Amino acid sequence: MIKINENYLKLEASYLFIDIARRVTAFTDAHPEREVIRLGIGDVTRPLPPACIEAFHRGVDEMADGATFRGYGPEQGYAFLREKIAEHDFKSRGANISADEIFVSDGAKCDTGNIQEIFAGDTKIAVPDPVYPVYVDTNVMAGRTGTAEDGRYAGLCYLDGTMENGFIPALPTEPADLIYLCYPNNPTGATITKDQLKVWVDYARENRALILFDAAYEAFIRDESLPRTIYEIEGAEEVAIEFRSFSKTAGFTGTRCAFTVVPKACVAYDSKGEKQSVHSLWNRRHGTKFNGVSYPVQKAAEAVYSEAGQQQTRALVDYYLKNAALIRREITALGFECVGGENSPYIWIDGKRDSWEFFDLLLEKAGVVCTPGAGFGKCGQGYIRISAFNDYEKVQEAMSRIRAALAE
Ligand SMILES: *Cc1c(COP(=O)(O)O)cnc(C)c1O
Repeated sequence: MIKINENYLKLEASYLFIDIARRVTAFTDAHPEREVIRLGIGDVTRPLPPACIEAFHRGVDEMADGATFRGYGPEQGYAFLREKIAEHDFKSRGANISADEIFVSDGAKCDTGNIQEIFAGDTKIAVPDPVYPVYVDTNVMAGRTGTAEDGRYAGLCYLDGTMENGFIPALPTEPADLIYLCYPNNPTGATITKDQLKVWVDYARENRALILFDAAYEAFIRDESLPRTIYEIEGAEEVAIEFRSFSKTAGFTGTRCAFTVVPKACVAYDSKGEKQSVHSLWNRRHGTKFNGVSYPVQKAAEAVYSEAGQQQTRALVDYYLKNAALIRREITALGFECVGGENSPYIWIDGKRDSWEFFDLLLEKAGVVCTPGAGFGKCGQGYIRISAFNDYEKVQEAMSRIRAALAE
């Protein structure tokens, strides 16, 4: 008899986006004449930068010619891309990361979800609340938790984010081996300073723990004092893995290219307490279960680092940042407290009422779709997330509608 992995039965069905879609459909059915503006999604809306498109096309043409055709590439990614990443994203920031410490993949979602496989079944996991759901659900699937009650799984260590701590949680008070951090944060838009990040790196070093640092929104950082990579913090290469993606940086959500940095100095321990190389384990895992990102896609990603690509991706991110600044300004003027919207495409707003109540109000009175914070964890209750991924004109219209709705 074939049996299932019963850990999957512990997963709380995520009704968040289904529920949003249901409420939006009910609204548009009832008011077909009203145009709904979607500021709820975590997906980009602008096309790929021209430099990437040109390189993408050239890559496809090479595949069409016997002389330049390529079959399987290296599982870890082509050297042309890994070297550019190491140079531009790390060495230029004073972070000593080399090309062979970079693993190119088809997404930071997959990587943040898969990485837990190389750690022990009894690893104590610490996750922020509110959180990107992938970190939690993949550990539930792997059997590292009990069942959920009140939206929280038994056995997980939740790190509470609040307006008071600026959504930078305090260190865990119970032992934690594997800690997920994401800055600039999804969903809150909060950013972390070097001093604040150093507290976590020091904790990990003192407690032989490991940090999984999701930097998918690194390109949105404009404040030069903020760390662009965790490896700007001294000693982080021993205790941190970093996840990056071209999704939000260069509009690759539908093109698929990302990378994970596993420094050779990064260690975890076997049952005898002996140090083991995390790089070797991830290399083994990646090579066994992954066969590389498509060649034209890696060429398109490489173009991000060309002079034109750098300028175009910066302009692309600036476009969303301008939307974010507008949202933040308007929301603040309306008297709400918020975080994010600077160095981040997300604005996290204290609605001073139930998340879904605020969601319904914005939908019904303003025809604007946001994301209820309660969908990201217990600490998200009372908040909503507004995303800057849309056209500037739509954002302007949405904000003036929200202003009018709240004045009623
Ligand atoms: C969008 C996003 C990613 C990127 O995922 P991809 O699979 O590379 O598209 C990773 N982490 C967070 C928190 C995100 O919001």
